[in-house]
Amino acid sequence: MKIWLVLLLVFATVFAETDYYKVLGVAKNADEKDIKKAYRSLSKKFHPDKNPGDDEAAQKFIQVGEAYDVLGDPEKRQRYDRFGAEGLDSRQEQFHDPFDMFQQFFGGGGQQHRGKPKGKSSLLHLEFSLQDFYNGASNDFRIEMQNICETCSGSGSQDGKVHQCDTCKGHGRVVQTRQFGGGMQQRFETICPKCSGTGNLITHKCKKCQGNRVVRGPRIHNVHLGAGTSRNHVEILEGQGDQSPDWIAGDLQIMFKEKAEGNMGYRRIGNNLYRDEALTLKEALHGGWERQIAFLDKIENTITLSKKKGEVVVDGQVDTIKGRGMPLHDHYDEHGDLFIKYHIIYPQQIRDEL
Ligand SMILES: [Zn+2]
Ligand SMILES: [Zn+2]
Repeated sequence: MKIWLVLLLVFATVFAETDYYKVLGVAKNADEKDIKKAYRSLSKKFHPDKNPGDDEAAQKFIQVGEAYDVLGDPEKRQRYDRFGAEGLDSRQEQFHDPFDMFQQFFGGGGQQHRGKPKGKSSLLHLEFSLQDFYNGASNDFRIEMQNICETCSGSGSQDGKVHQCDTCKGHGRVVQTRQFGGGMQQRFETICPKCSGTGNLITHKCKKCQGNRVVRGPRIHNVHLGAGTSRNHVEILEGQGDQSPDWIAGDLQIMFKEKAEGNMGYRRIGNNLYRDEALTLKEALHGGWERQIAFLDKIENTITLSKKKGEVVVDGQVDTIKGRGMPLHDHYDEHGDLFIKYHIIYPQQIRDEL
């Protein structure tokens, strides 16, 4: 009885390992499109370039490749459906190199996975006041980023010596053989477990970076905010992302955010400016007033509002002052408009004649 149970478990394990439908997460009656879609997303997810040093992901990547090799080929799939893994040709059945398959599927030059990929970009928010957006500004800032260790020039080694990994002979990948039921074998490539795919071993690790080849440290940059730059504009500092000997540094992206405070009572919508202004009932009814309000422009820093005698303003009235909005980013001589919305303050009691 016990033997049977063990046999059953072994059988179940072998079966589970070769259930390509399960590997791709598709139904037995999935069509070609579903299978392609599943392969597309899973092979990207588990690609070793995205999961450096993660053996489990590498295994999954290979399994997904195998599954697609079979299910993506109508003839192989038919044999697999009828006879299971045993039905796949001879015992010598060789799968395609999962990396080549990946390249073929997504296009691109054959050996790309062995070249350096581009690193991720980092995004940083820098805040500026509305007045800065109006006049333009320049800003030095400091940011902590990952840099290649200068002490060891990114080798990770104290004495500069890096030895070739004896397990993979410097390839970073090793070929393993997996046994299936019925004496079937499969050879597949996986990331070398001894050197985590680097192909190198270090005896004396660099003391500065502990053999990591990278350290975090400050970098200083300067960015220029042009007058009239739109809110949330992203400036790209090319190649200023995190550094690593394993990738080409990505970009540092800087998003120009508008500070909540310091807008001097103005609101920006696109190239136009808006402002609320309060009037007494007397001013609103009789006119004949003039006032100066502070403005964002550092040179023409006031705006004069006025009404002639007898000119009435109603509550909620909006006046347009042409050409006193934000400067246009591409044509700094031109400006949007300024809208002034009047609010009338009504007295609690009317004592005097208005
Ligand atoms: Zn190795
Ligand atoms: Zn170092």
